[in-house]
Amino acid sequence: MASSSPASHTDTAVAPALPVVTPLSPLTGTVAHHFTVDVEEYFHVSAMEPHIRVAEWDGMESRLEPSMDRLLGLLDAHNAKGTFFVLGWIARKYPHIVRAIADGGHEVASHGTMHQRVTMLTPRQFRDDIREARQLLEDLAGESVIGYRAPSFSITADRLWALDILVEEGYQYDSSLFPIRRAGYGLRNGLRDPYWISTAAGPLLEVPPTTLRRAGQTLPAAGGAYFRLFPLGIFRRAFQETGERGHPGTFYIHPWEIDPDQPRVAGIPLTTRIRHYGGLGRTFSRMERMFFEFRFTSIRENYGSVLTLSARPER
Ligand SMILES: [Zn+2]
Repeated sequence: MASSSPASHTDTAVAPALPVVTPLSPLTGTVAHHFTVDVEEYFHVSAMEPHIRVAEWDGMESRLEPSMDRLLGLLDAHNAKGTFFVLGWIARKYPHIVRAIADGGHEVASHGTMHQRVTMLTPRQFRDDIREARQLLEDLAGESVIGYRAPSFSITADRLWALDILVEEGYQYDSSLFPIRRAGYGLRNGLRDPYWISTAAGPLLEVPPTTLRRAGQTLPAAGGAYFRLFPLGIFRRAFQETGERGHPGTFYIHPWEIDPDQPRVAGIPLTTRIRHYGGLGRTFSRMERMFFEFRFTSIRENYGSVLTLSARPER
């Protein structure tokens, strides 16, 4: 979830260095875009960190299951597949939800274990977090987990060591490098379409969330609070233009974003209230409109042929 205001920016700061990257060739035929879900509860959101302690998580009301049913139903209704970046904490507590994702033919991917932003972790802590999540998820899904998305897109220019560790831990693609600049996240000079990154540990496919370029600015147009609060036309244009370039766009949403009746967390600042609760009631119908206009699938479905889909590792 975004931790700063949904506003545009200009490309003015000095660009941080990215590792060597290679753009992917365009896909042939009609492009199917990526429908992705960060599977977590409303109380896992980074903006709620100051207000809900980890020790309180177990006692919070769960809202996940009905929203997951609606999301899986939406995909089924449109004969579409999706990629679900599941939090390890969720896998441990609700294993049947992970099995339901896999049984539906969707991709189970990793959102780490405890939803700590990469900017808050040491390399050792990051490795432990993504290793634990992958093991939990693979044991439930019964197949290898190859994809990762960082909480709050928090692999920033000074945390690119995380990409090496992802490859070392068996991940084959990442979907965390949002090519925009924000406080706490975003990689402002990142490419906008999928690309290979040469890490010290080997190649990693990067699948960035969708953006729209207008008047020299890169606007976030992938989902989340922006999708709830900004005009839908921005998102329709962004996915249309990405498809016309021959590349899949990557949409993201959280289960709590289609749950207008979720418990309201007391004492949070006005900006967080707007970002977290704004537009909840219209998110689902907006997604339905996107599904009528675009074809969606999982990241694994689009790129399985260029990734090594090895069998589930024995442990
Ligand atoms: Zn998250």
